[in-house]
Amino acid sequence: MVVPFSDKTQHEAKAFERTKQSFCLPDGIIYLDGNSLGPLPKGVSERVATAVEEEWGGKLIRAWNEADWIDLPTRVGNRIGAMIGAEPNAVVVADSTSINLQKALAAALQLRPERKVLLSDSGNFPTDLYMAQGLIAALGDGHQLKVVSPDEVEDALDDSVAALMLTEVDYRTGRLHSMKALTAAAHAVGALTIWDLAHSAGALPVDLAGCKADFAVGCGYKYLNGGPGAPAFIYGRPDLVDRIKPLQSGWMGHKAPFAFELDYIPAEGADRMRVGTPPILSLTALDAALDVWDGIEIDTVRAASISLADLLIDEIERRCAGFGLRLASPREGDRRGSQVSFHFDEGYAAIQALQAQGVIGDFRAPDLMRFGITPLYIGEAEIIAAAAGLETVLKDRLWDQPNLKTRAKVT
Ligand SMILES: *Cc1c(COP(=O)(O)O)cnc(C)c1O
Repeated sequence: MVVPFSDKTQHEAKAFERTKQSFCLPDGIIYLDGNSLGPLPKGVSERVATAVEEEWGGKLIRAWNEADWIDLPTRVGNRIGAMIGAEPNAVVVADSTSINLQKALAAALQLRPERKVLLSDSGNFPTDLYMAQGLIAALGDGHQLKVVSPDEVEDALDDSVAALMLTEVDYRTGRLHSMKALTAAAHAVGALTIWDLAHSAGALPVDLAGCKADFAVGCGYKYLNGGPGAPAFIYGRPDLVDRIKPLQSGWMGHKAPFAFELDYIPAEGADRMRVGTPPILSLTALDAALDVWDGIEIDTVRAASISLADLLIDEIERRCAGFGLRLASPREGDRRGSQVSFHFDEGYAAIQALQAQGVIGDFRAPDLMRFGITPLYIGEAEIIAAAAGLETVLKDRLWDQPNLKTRAKVT
């Protein structure tokens, strides 16, 4: 049956009405920074309180078995895996994205011992490059990190490349790489791929298995709303993962942690990418936060995200013409992730002034005002109000105050 468009739209609006009610958002705030720190879903506080009081407080160490804490990294990993097209049990939740990236890099280099080049692009998030630099220095094996511009990646692939390490969605501009095409191009020259999904998971459809991606990592605290410093996830292609000798060979990734053997033997499957004791309280918060997604199709979220971002671009360009703003994001929705950025010389101060109007976006050096689009709790009304707020900031030069120009530690 073909669903008439209006019914479908209404159905989607209803779905997001429900999800919007699922978040604790302060009154008077329009939150366009869920790409950096997702807001608090209702139910998280209670679930964490239960884990603290009943599980930790009441069951004490017995909770590792009785509350099944020990398998929480895999349970939550499977929930995230289902959102990013991973095979069952191919994702575990552990550590931070930075650390997971280094695990994946080490694995990829190990699987291509005769190759020395690690290829990435200048749109990558700095920690990814830093972790690669640190690993290369520690290995001392003549590896080289080659960083090209995003549109030169495909041409830079050749048979010297051991691994291609990319973030799918550029954290500054929102430019989206084609995971499918670049993974195929990497495989065609015998290279492996490592995808950072920090701005993809929970933002757009990802098909790791369909793209035959080799490794992937991503954050729990951005579009997945797991809370500040929520543990990250790591994916390893099931047919590769059993060939990895983990760089961080910790006891939680051992085949039999409680046999307490003197030598490391890796667990089977993705479990070998675990290292130490999992942060149960943070994992519980992330697990509870994922309940928001029950019954929500990521394709629906993606369609809404594109149309809301298009609307934001139109509204800002119409209202704020003549103030020196310049769109930094791709104009075509299918070439963008779920954010919109504008260049503006006084971007930092403007973002501060906009916050004073109740609209929270963020600033990325050198001059980007960045707005995350999260349809779970942002709709057309919020987008229009945010653009109107920015118009006020620019027309009334509200940014032009010395106290707004001093940068805080975290921008
Ligand atoms: C946010 C982000 C990270 C953060 O890594 P942490 O280890 O969680 O601090 C890594 N990579 C990308 C692409 C990001 O956007």
